[in-house]
Amino acid sequence: MGFERFGRVSFISQTKTEPFVDYLEKEGLYATQCSTCGQTYFPPRADCASCISSDINWLKVDEQGSLISFTRSYFAPTGFEEDVPYLLAVADFNKIKVFGRFKTGLQEDDLYAGMKVKVKPLTLPNGQISYEFVPA
Ligand SMILES: [Zn+2]
Repeated sequence: MGFERFGRVSFISQTKTEPFVDYLEKEGLYATQCSTCGQTYFPPRADCASCISSDINWLKVDEQGSLISFTRSYFAPTGFEEDVPYLLAVADFNKIKVFGRFKTGLQEDDLYAGMKVKVKPLTLPNGQISYEFVPA
């Protein structure tokens, strides 16, 4: 148990990548890296899709990344309806691509491809653990 604490709406309580939530809460964002072939995964994976190995290590994601792209979402999946519109983005953290939301209050004019961003862990009002992008 433990993964049910991640995200605004969590659909599962158990996963092989459950340590992700504790890492996020205590140390920051972590990815996984295959010990056999070196492939990295975010979101974390416990089994390598490249070489089928289950021998993985946890790898701390760099503190600062570079924004690749972003968009404003006006429609949301279950659990996020009251948050729209919000900014979704993908950023590169030393070749590990991370998908997430920007903190509220930012506008498209505040963002540009290549800008430096950080991942900020946060505890949501309902006690769930998540993260958001913030300008670095
Ligand atoms: Zn592998």
